[in-house]
Amino acid sequence: MIEIRNVRKSFGNHEVIKGVSLEVKKGEVLCLIGASGSGKSTMLQCINGLEPIQAGEILVDGISVHAKSTDLNLLRQKLGIVFQQYNAFPHLNALENVALAPRIVRKMRPKDALEIAREHLDYVGLSAQAEQYPTSLSGGQQQRLAIARALAMKPDYMLFDEVTSALDPELVGEVLDTIRKLRTNGMTMIMVTHDIAFARESADRVAFFDGGVICEIGDARQVITAPNKERTQQFLQRVL
Ligand code: ADP
Ligand code: MG
Repeated sequence: MIEIRNVRKSFGNHEVIKGVSLEVKKGEVLCLIGASGSGKSTMLQCINGLEPIQAGEILVDGISVHAKSTDLNLLRQKLGIVFQQYNAFPHLNALENVALAPRIVRKMRPKDALEIAREHLDYVGLSAQAEQYPTSLSGGQQQRLAIARALAMKPDYMLFDEVTSALDPELVGEVLDTIRKLRTNGMTMIMVTHDIAFARESADRVAFFDGGVICEIGDARQVITAPNKERTQQFLQRVL
């Protein structure tokens, strides 16, 4: 479970997260929506311990992310993260890309790491592309590769930050299908997305970020089809 308690985060004297609290339970899918600059990406970075916070607390399975005693490398093995930009190693083929972290971080034998990598390429539908280099893959395939790489570390949680925003429209579906498959298999996920239809159909809950606070959070369908707050309504009118 991820527990976020009254978190505040500033860059210099610019406060961008202004007291956010929320909980994500095991198996739950939470989508974060909101205007550009409202603090969604920063929130994910704080959960992953990539950014320090100025107040409050974030707990992942009871472990305080920002406590000095916390081993961030160990914690990050619990949290897979995928960004908008594909970040595969260009000089390694797809299979080697997925095998890398199990080999280096988990210190698996090369043979075992490759076996894990094959399983995860298969999971995201890239078995046929195992020997291909990242630059020869389509954007959708590269994002599925990024997901496979994160999954190979056997995370308990997946964080997605606009993973389909840079894709040509015809490639969005295959990536969303992979995320839906993860949901079906019970993965706990926090996903920043502009895809309101996906959030409505495939999230359990939706949180609407507005100026560094959660303006509204609730059942995905309810928040998107019948929001309680005027601000949420205005945002949805603009993007739908
Ligand atoms: P979103 O993902 O909702 O578009 P962000 O979390 O990226 O929003 O940004 C929230 C605010 O924090 C913005 O005003 C942005 O300019 C600022 N910001 C984000 N990252 C940094 C950074 N590394 N240094 C300074 N300001 C930042
Ligand atoms: Mg962002």
